[in-house]
Amino acid sequence: MPRREHAVVVGGSLAGLLSARVLLDHFEQVTLLERDTFPDEPVSRPGVAQGRHLHVLWDHGRGLINGLLPGVEAAMLAQGAPDLRLPADFLWLTSGGWRRRFDTARMLTFSRGLLDWAVRKELFARPRLAVRTGVEVTGLTGSSGDETVTGVRYRERGDASRTEERMPADLVVDATGRGSHAPEWLAELGRPLPRETKIDPLLGYASRYYAIPSGFDPGWKALYIQAGPPRARRTGGLFPQEGGRWICSLSGAGGDYPPTDEEGYLEYARGLRDPVLYEAIKDAEPLTPVVSFRRTAGHRRHYERIRSWPEGFAAIGDSVCAFNPIYGQGITVAAASALELGRMLREDRTTRWFQKRVKRAGAGAWLISTGEDRRYAETQGPPVPPHTRVINAYVDLAVRAANVDPESCADMLDVLGLAKPPTSLFRPASLARVIAARTKPPVDRPWSTEHASR
Ligand SMILES: Cc1cc2nc3c(=O)[nH]c(=O)nc-3n(C[C@H](O)[C@H](O)[C@H](O)COP(=O)(O)OP(=O)(O)OC[C@H]3O[C@@H](n4cnc5c(N)ncnc54)[C@H](O)[C@@H]3O)c2cc1C
Repeated sequence: MPRREHAVVVGGSLAGLLSARVLLDHFEQVTLLERDTFPDEPVSRPGVAQGRHLHVLWDHGRGLINGLLPGVEAAMLAQGAPDLRLPADFLWLTSGGWRRRFDTARMLTFSRGLLDWAVRKELFARPRLAVRTGVEVTGLTGSSGDETVTGVRYRERGDASRTEERMPADLVVDATGRGSHAPEWLAELGRPLPRETKIDPLLGYASRYYAIPSGFDPGWKALYIQAGPPRARRTGGLFPQEGGRWICSLSGAGGDYPPTDEEGYLEYARGLRDPVLYEAIKDAEPLTPVVSFRRTAGHRRHYERIRSWPEGFAAIGDSVCAFNPIYGQGITVAAASALELGRMLREDRTTRWFQKRVKRAGAGAWLISTGEDRRYAETQGPPVPPHTRVINAYVDLAVRAANVDPESCADMLDVLGLAKPPTSLFRPASLARVIAARTKPPVDRPWSTEHASR
């Protein structure tokens, strides 16, 4: 990329914001184009509809964001985001039983609106960044012969009759999420459509905010009641957030979608593998109606396989690979991919090289989420490879070990949080711990915290 005067980022959610942050280190001017308008307050917005549901950020992702924008965490803490010990502050029923409450890691719990607001607040204060909202990108422009992307076409949102305008750029980054139209944009420049893989566990979310009852102190701060596939398909999370409230997100795989009416929602919660979440919310004051979300399939666009990938164009975040959200990994993958964008520019690599790195950044999350999704008979997608069943059988043992052994718990959290690849669970030391933990008895509901740090 000979010129580095102007980069355009399309989409102002986390993948786009973090990309813009990285590009400011390499371009004289960066422009962020977003279809929505950004709220001034830490609230959700229509373009990030998933933001009304439970979002978590594991230690690794938290570290990546703090490295890029060091003031974000302080801004969130100042707004009252709880900083919990994981799993010490949780009652966590895993697919393999209750997890003992080791003091292994930390987890900041927050509304998605707060995280995005804190990122925007710090990023938008930087010079050389232009932010345009209410603007919808409709396509790309190319050089003669279309070898290189030279900019974007866009128009004011909601007015299809208005003429399209053009904005030139030396690099365009697509961060428009699952609904990205980049395949069509590339096809207009004569590129083949990417191969796509979809693995859909037919998962639906329904979420609601509750006021945390005053004086509530049952010895835990958050609840995580996981499904037990293939038969027990429901998961429930009750997490504290800023503003003295809980977010309750119920989800069901295999088409067992949670309802959104009052009674149905509570009944669904009662059907989780343990009634503790139902008991907590049944008399709590709801602060919002129940909202649902079903666009949750694992969806990968194999851009890395397009040999004629044009220079000057990159795709990142959910627009390339979106995961079953239940493992909370999309933001960490977006942050790791944004760092790869910086590496591409530092090392003078091609955007095709970048797409291969994006695939790599999401490989662990893809393996974890699709491996779990394939435990359900209803999951739609390509046939289950035989090795998935073998891996899943070992993962069952590793989950049980993590429930009773602090070192195994640390190993598991490192993998779930993407600090280490899933293969690290197969390293000799982890394997030995998994085998040794088989003799340890499972635990009953662990009401007390254990101060066995790693
Ligand atoms: C229910 C649910 C729960 C989740 N929970 C977690 C979690 O706990 N932890 C976690 O790490 N991840 C979670 N995720 C994933 C996470 O939400 C995404 O990975 C994250 O938002 C990054 O996505 P993105 O920025 O690539 O795209 P998105 O967040 O989808 O944003 C796309 C942006 O592009 C804009 N846009 C779209 N088209 C255009 C256009 N043509 N022109 C201009 N702008 C456009 C949109 O308005 C939007 O702002 C969850 C996802 C879901 C669905």
